[in-house]
Amino acid sequence: MKPTVDLPHEPTCAWPFFDSDDEAAVLRILRDGNVSTHPVIRELEADWARFTGRRHGLAHASGTAGLMAAFFALDLQPGDEVLVPTATFWASVLPMLWFGLVPVFCESESERLGPCPVDMARRITPRTRAMVVVHLWGLPAKMSELRALADQHGLAIVEDASHTHGATWRGRACGSLGDVSVLSLQGDKLAPAGEGGILLTDDDQIHERATCLGDITRIIELDSVARRFAATSFGVKTRIAPLSAALGRSQLAKLPDLNARRNANHRRLCLALEALGFETFLGPDHVERVWFEFIVRHRDPARDVDALIERLTREGCRAAAPRYPLLHQQPFFAEGHWRQIARVPSSDATMAGVDELADTARENRRLIRLPNFPGPDNGIVDQYAEAFARAVE
Ligand SMILES: *Cc1c(COP(=O)(O)O)cnc(C)c1O
Repeated sequence: MKPTVDLPHEPTCAWPFFDSDDEAAVLRILRDGNVSTHPVIRELEADWARFTGRRHGLAHASGTAGLMAAFFALDLQPGDEVLVPTATFWASVLPMLWFGLVPVFCESESERLGPCPVDMARRITPRTRAMVVVHLWGLPAKMSELRALADQHGLAIVEDASHTHGATWRGRACGSLGDVSVLSLQGDKLAPAGEGGILLTDDDQIHERATCLGDITRIIELDSVARRFAATSFGVKTRIAPLSAALGRSQLAKLPDLNARRNANHRRLCLALEALGFETFLGPDHVERVWFEFIVRHRDPARDVDALIERLTREGCRAAAPRYPLLHQQPFFAEGHWRQIARVPSSDATMAGVDELADTARENRRLIRLPNFPGPDNGIVDQYAEAFARAVE
């Protein structure tokens, strides 16, 4: 029997999308010859700071490097605890270990799949200093509750907005909602630079410390006593390459248009799937989400997800389980290797066991990942809707 989805997935599902603007942007740097410290890096930083309404932007070689700088910039002590979701990409969490910080894994809430404020509150101890907020898959997290909790306990918020380029929460850009915020500009992301990351903050001190960690050529420009570190930095180099910065800039310029096309395709399919009994995570009215990943869930918790994925696959859909395994269950944490990096004595900090955080584990198994539809729709979006209708029959 012919599958319902028989149109090609390309070009509707193809990403990233590059055109002659991107080629010209990269060529400009290549022809200039300054492929290491070209001012395009500052232009990228200024563009992102303007786009998110922030005072400082500092471009990094990767989102991971930007997060490392963010954890360093908070100026915490070894053994200090940071609340983190277990349901996220590893880079939201692991860089903190290099500064002796201890991640305390928390549940995610099942409405928006972000960190659960109620569970985070339960895990606060006298050593808790910060929380990592990830807007998972493109849906802004429950910021009111998370911010209230952070303020109540004097915790800094590290916002990992790597899935939310162009998303807003109560009219404010994702990337402006943390004391320090980072967006990855890696090739799969919504405004790719190839490899890159942008750190954003309004705090001069955070900007200064991040600069001291990783961008030695910029330390001399600091308007403070930190200039005395200009000959050494703090020992790592995290600056983005200008060729990447140029691509990151031209992609940011197109982000609103490309998001609009992707969002329109996704919203249309979401409305069809909602009518078939699926939760599609469109988010509340005060949130304008984007789609780094297209994740849906059947409203009936008893629904056999594997069988559903199998039927969708038979109908020609690309359907699978979401790609992040829960971090606290991974060997790096479960076998204790993290202590080697963080250098935390075993008596000093405990880690969630693999059987803990059961709510997130259970809810995670209900999720289905679909392809993104960022390109011009060749008719495949309606075919997906039809395939879902057959699969739930
Ligand atoms: C992609 C990503 C990062 C950082 O990734 P890099 O590949 O280092 O740019 C961090 N957090 C999340 C949630 C991500 O998806």
